[in-house]
Amino acid sequence: MIIDAHAHIFPDKIAARAADGISSFYGMRVRYDGTLGELFREGEKAGVTRYIVQSVATVPEQVNAINNFISECVKKYPDKLIGFGAMHPDFPDIKGETERLISLGLRGIKLHSDFQRFNIDDERAFPIYEAAEGRLPILFHVGDNRYDFSSPKRLMNVMKKFPKLTVIGAHLAGWSEWDEGARIFAGSGAYADCSSSLYAMSPEHAAELIRKIGTDRVMWGTDYPMWDASEELKMFERLPLTSEERENILYKNALRLVGEL
Ligand SMILES: [Zn+2]
Repeated sequence: MIIDAHAHIFPDKIAARAADGISSFYGMRVRYDGTLGELFREGEKAGVTRYIVQSVATVPEQVNAINNFISECVKKYPDKLIGFGAMHPDFPDIKGETERLISLGLRGIKLHSDFQRFNIDDERAFPIYEAAEGRLPILFHVGDNRYDFSSPKRLMNVMKKFPKLTVIGAHLAGWSEWDEGARIFAGSGAYADCSSSLYAMSPEHAAELIRKIGTDRVMWGTDYPMWDASEELKMFERLPLTSEERENILYKNALRLVGEL
């Protein structure tokens, strides 16, 4: 079993535009178009069996539609997809929408505060953390050395204030500030994924950061549509990890996160 713990999907009609937006935000080539079809096609080639899928609401007006879309996808492919919902700090009824997304079968929330333009530890976002605490994990985009919205330090402030919140720090808890992210996450008990990270460091360095965060905490992911699943797996296989650690990262930690292990 292999679980891709970090995949973005978009409705077919807007997928190409959304993928272009990600590409220009990061100044990087996005490999795929962001449709569910291509996620499955490329994932299956690599041997991926399940996917945690989500999408970011860049404005509050998108929250409802994204949650409906992700939930429809999950209903169509319940064996393959674990869906996370969207939320936005300026959404008028955070508590109500959190209840609704739970009733839709969604099992977590995705936030990307660089796209959504709020500091992760801003009080405006506290109602999201209050609503999710003890109920739903939040997958946070973490780190971007061009901004300060999503810094690992700010996320640590949230973890201190909401100790019962299940946190997933994307990109080894600090994209483009990986050492800082792993240092802050070490021993915190929070989850992380290693998507959009392995390309930027040596296999030895990646293994060191993963061990710092915890091999029982880090999950493998592609950040689809950004990267190719087969290439990401090849990079992952180069890391000097034990087979037990590999199994944890490739699927067991994700199963534990969603309460299936
Ligand atoms: Zn993401």
